[in-house]
Amino acid sequence: MATATDAAEPFVLTGRRVWVAGHRGMVGSAIVRRLEADGAAVLTAERRDLDLTRQADVEAWLDRHRPDVVVVAAAKVGGIHANATYPVDFLRDNLAIETNIIHGAHLADVGKLLFLGSSCIYPRLAPQPMTEDALLTGPLEPTNEWYAIAKIAGIKLCQAYRRQYGRDFVAVMPTNLYGPGDNYHPTDSHVPAALIRRFHEAKTAGAAEVTVWGTGRPLREFLYVDDLADACAFVLRHHSGEAFLNVGTGEEIAIGAFAETVAEVVGYRGRIVYDTGRPDGAPRKRLDVSRLAALGWRARTPLRDGLALAYADFLAGGGRFRDVTAG
Ligand code: GDP
Repeated sequence: MATATDAAEPFVLTGRRVWVAGHRGMVGSAIVRRLEADGAAVLTAERRDLDLTRQADVEAWLDRHRPDVVVVAAAKVGGIHANATYPVDFLRDNLAIETNIIHGAHLADVGKLLFLGSSCIYPRLAPQPMTEDALLTGPLEPTNEWYAIAKIAGIKLCQAYRRQYGRDFVAVMPTNLYGPGDNYHPTDSHVPAALIRRFHEAKTAGAAEVTVWGTGRPLREFLYVDDLADACAFVLRHHSGEAFLNVGTGEEIAIGAFAETVAEVVGYRGRIVYDTGRPDGAPRKRLDVSRLAALGWRARTPLRDGLALAYADFLAGGGRFRDVTAG
């Protein structure tokens, strides 16, 4: 079956040298798995060899390795608490990382670049589901505005290099993600990793109750990370344009129901209580995914199946985590 496309010709990934910046993270590692399966020659740089916040180093690395394609999956990321605790990391470091990579890719004459944003770029009270046109139509959610501002700048950089220099730089905006390789940090993680850890530890300790932050009422949309990686490969092949694309399932679930699902997957049978002293964040952030659907892509992994895979990964890795502030 032919796939709809807004690129003149599908972009060929097989045999291409693709630099995945951020390959150690949950998103970057999923993209590496996907692109290698597609026959791309994936390039990576270890943290000890390349500090992405240093412009001269990033430009020198790109000049030396000359990739055909760059995927910007590198970023300082974390949950609602981490965003409030490390505003400099989420704003300054992310601005530096994306500016260095995008400008360096331009200097190194990279043929195609994919930038990964986030659904938190949209206004806190954007009409639901949120279309790409909601960008910059209202105030942001304060609990993650540092990160959101950096990601909005990344989208605009891609558009600017496209306009001024004709570069084929594109961007996707994923919804909340989960899956293998997540950061299971006890306080700085996103909600899926946080709850997998907390329910697992409560089950192991025989604890009578588990605390979930906030009221349990906010609605979130969760996408399995391998589905995101699949969407990234699809977008690289089939999309070229200033318009960026939402990536999600289009389905939402209340945090309370999500917590119950995680408890079931982990096998925890105690009570769930809510700490309403903790922030809820945005009340709702469901993405309108029709633009990407019209090109022919949709998510495949049901939430419960994806959570089972994530829990297996947590058990296999011993719940490893890293600090947001780590270089
Ligand atoms: P957000 O979508 O940017 O708010 O990302 P998060 O994954 O940090 O939080 C999603 C929702 O889950 C928010 O309403 C949180 O208050 C709620 N939540 C409940 N328990 C936790 C937890 O232990 N960690 C985190 N990060 N969020 C939690």
